Amino acid sequence: MKYETVIGLEVHVEMATESKIFCSCSAKFGGEQNDHVCPACCGMPGMLPIVNKHVVDLGMTAGMMLNCDINRTTTFDKKSYYYPDLPNAYQTTQWFAPVCVNGTVDIKTSKGEKKVRIKQIHMEEDAGKLVHDDWTDSTLVDFNRTSVPLIEIVSQPDLSSAEEVIAYLERLRSLLRFAKVSDCRWEQGSMRCDVNLSVRPEGSDVLGVRTEMKNMNSLSAIERAIEYETARHIDAIENGTEVLVQETRRWDDIKGKSYAMRTKETAGDYRYFPDPNVMPVVIDDEWYNRIKETLPDLPEVKAQKFIELGLTEYDADQLIQSRALCDVFEAAYKTSGLAKESANWIITDCMTILNKKQMTADMLSISGKALGELIKLVAEEKVNRGNAKRILAVMFDEDINPQEYAEKNGLIVSNDTGKLEEVVKAVCAADPKSVEDYKNGKEKVFMALFGQCMKQLQGNCNPQALKEALLKELQ
Ligand SMILES: [Zn+2]
Repeated sequence: MKYETVIGLEVHVEMATESKIFCSCSAKFGGEQNDHVCPACCGMPGMLPIVNKHVVDLGMTAGMMLNCDINRTTTFDKKSYYYPDLPNAYQTTQWFAPVCVNGTVDIKTSKGEKKVRIKQIHMEEDAGKLVHDDWTDSTLVDFNRTSVPLIEIVSQPDLSSAEEVIAYLERLRSLLRFAKVSDCRWEQGSMRCDVNLSVRPEGSDVLGVRTEMKNMNSLSAIERAIEYETARHIDAIENGTEVLVQETRRWDDIKGKSYAMRTKETAGDYRYFPDPNVMPVVIDDEWYNRIKETLPDLPEVKAQKFIELGLTEYDADQLIQSRALCDVFEAAYKTSGLAKESANWIITDCMTILNKKQMTADMLSISGKALGELIKLVAEEKVNRGNAKRILAVMFDEDINPQEYAEKNGLIVSNDTGKLEEVVKAVCAADPKSVEDYKNGKEKVFMALFGQCMKQLQGNCNPQALKEALLKELQ
């Protein structure tokens, strides 16, 4: 018999906010253990949560990017469970009126295009982290991550293969990074995924027994886990190797196997109820429209616009890998009017510097306007390319005006013919042998003399003008 796999995903994404969801502690990754904590996020009695408005902004932004309806009155609820890294013994999340519902994400795979339906997106707080200390053989808790804002994006069970799941996750990541909702870094845990999977005979409309693999944090692990789990389910159904039960499983990527963790809780076990400490959030038209207006173009729409400006498909594709590259490109183009040059400087020169600094494209934070001015200086032959590269490197560390910097540091190409002649005369006077060789028909020495002049002028001259001055002198 042929089987089909039915997969639904719950994707957790940490939002790119400065502070936590219900207090003003820093939400940044890293720091000393328990550095980013206060009585509110440690669940001390008497402390009341206040919703971070920016979290709601980003929740709505995510929903609009995924074609969701926005609940104009959205509320928070308590999800009760006990775990040492959860100081309140409940998580504040959204159950009854999540911020976004009913969306879609378009994906492309080798089998064609597909729409994956989004059931809902809800906002919630993250839990802390348990750290095992081998030295004292004890487990300690770090509350830095407690109350860091998350959104959970719940899909309908519309996915049917590892390939589709990867395409969906990559699309989600691209959209959320483009809208600056999250940096979506698998390796830092700012994007994590629970995979719900079942198997049924092809064509059947009855769902099989569902298992859930929690906290998956790499695409390759997700791919392997789906393949393993699908084979395990089919084996159980066909050969009766085991009895499938609804449960939560842990994926061991080193052993390449999944293990039962606990039988799956149902919603009832969590005793969801409205959190009386958090006021409902009402999203009025003004707020809704403000977010709607700040939505970026979809990456492929942006790429099309770039191609219309004269970029190749390849260049456009490189730029849309990161919103930061697009932003710098757009500003550089606006200032210089030179699309192809702007793209080249970003894709080649800026990326080289970023790589040297071990930074990613997202970290490109130079002023696009200043880059545009630099490109103009090169196009007008006021600064040569070598010096322009040096100026670009400075722009990564300081806010500078390229023209002022070039003037101050003697990097402007000189149109002073007097100075040119002076240098040519001096170089020829210092090397009479080469001059003699040239006169005797050894034309090769011309380039050597030219190079010496260029060096003395620090490259700040028009090569054609220098060539003419040198020829004149030699004749
Ligand atoms: Zn706090």
